[in-house]
Amino acid sequence: MEPFMRCLQYGAIIDFENKSYEQIDVPVGIKKQFNVINKRVILEGHCKKCQKSKSLE
Ligand SMILES: [Zn+2]
Repeated sequence: MEPFMRCLQYGAIIDFENKSYEQIDVPVGIKKQFNVINKRVILEGHCKKCQKSKSLE
C-alpha cells in the first residue's frame, strides 16, 4: 500500500512513494489478534497551496 498525505484544510489526498513507509511491519502482538489485510500510512497537514494562502494573510 502506498502512503498518502491528506490536507486538513481542503481534504485533498496526495499519494506519494516512499519505500521505508511501505515496508513498515505490523507489530507481532497485533498480528496475533488481528488478521491485517491492508495498512496505510497517512500524513496529515497542510499542502503547498494552503501554506501559500496562509502566508498571504
Ligand atoms: Zn491544502
